[in-house]
Amino acid sequence: MMKLPESMEGKTVLIAGSAGFVPSHMAELYLKKGAKVHGLDNFITGSKSNIELLSKYENFTFTECNIYEGLPDFKDVKFDYILSLASPASPIDFKIIPLEIMRVNSEGTMKLLELAKDHGARFLEASTSEVYGDPEIHPQVESYVGHVNPIGPRSCYDEAKRYAEAITMTYKTKYNVDTRIIRIFNTYGPRMRPDDGRVIPNFVNQVLKGDDITIYGDGSQTRSFCYVSDLVNAIDHVLMLGDHMPYNIGNPDEYTIKDCAALILDSLGGKSELSFSELPKDDPKRRRPDISRVMKLGYLPKVTFAEGLVATSEYFKSLM
Ligand code: UDP
Repeated sequence: MMKLPESMEGKTVLIAGSAGFVPSHMAELYLKKGAKVHGLDNFITGSKSNIELLSKYENFTFTECNIYEGLPDFKDVKFDYILSLASPASPIDFKIIPLEIMRVNSEGTMKLLELAKDHGARFLEASTSEVYGDPEIHPQVESYVGHVNPIGPRSCYDEAKRYAEAITMTYKTKYNVDTRIIRIFNTYGPRMRPDDGRVIPNFVNQVLKGDDITIYGDGSQTRSFCYVSDLVNAIDHVLMLGDHMPYNIGNPDEYTIKDCAALILDSLGGKSELSFSELPKDDPKRRRPDISRVMKLGYLPKVTFAEGLVATSEYFKSLM
């Protein structure tokens, strides 16, 4: 089996969205491997503290910009890798900034692809399990084409990511850009926004504060949660060793949302009660990745849900 390069010395990486949760971990991985990393972000959902953290590495540089309006003039640098990781991804963002989400994934992705073409760089598009919509097959394999509502409350994200995949494939077939597509399943860990609205930050913070745990619907819907260090390791495998066809990225351990609440209560030792409210429209009922394709590249998730939850709650405690 091919092996991941241990060092990235001499390589230059552009990370769009570097102030965000997953991209900031990705940037740190490559900085630690010796790469030069240039970050881009408009701080619409990213956090300045992530850029401060990355700025401690001397090989990190940053430009604040809205990538769909235009990229900086990179005439003195040649990128080896361009990572398209700039998109708000939480369902609460879908209501508040839908046009920004659509533009970053369409116009923004295209600008990054043009840059990859000009630089001869390898390009990675961070797509999502949301391209499968409310899936009719389970677990989801990459060959499944999905079940997405094009005019529903999640469509600004789902359809924009489907477009991002389509344009990435088009740059591969038309211009032979060396492209990668990953479909990220639910990810959690330190540096998530505590108010990001997603299930893990909500439940962990509710338990830490002794508030009720807010379950939407009856809690029988499922998700499969991946700890962020496993996720960035999977991305590294695809970028270095993969091909241009999509890869599901995540951890296939599947939990109902109700079990997830019980596990969080159990591992953090809280006394919160469960409260039930309406399930949002188009909320997928089941989600679990088939990760056999990325496993063939040598990836295996390592962090258990219980371990990841403890690390995540330590992070949220440090913000209180
Ligand atoms: N959810 C919940 N309570 C919350 C937040 C989310 O029950 O406080 C549910 C949500 O309805 C969904 C699942 O948890 O079924 C995962 O939601 P999240 O927003 O984390 O991500 P999604 O997978 O829907 O994009």
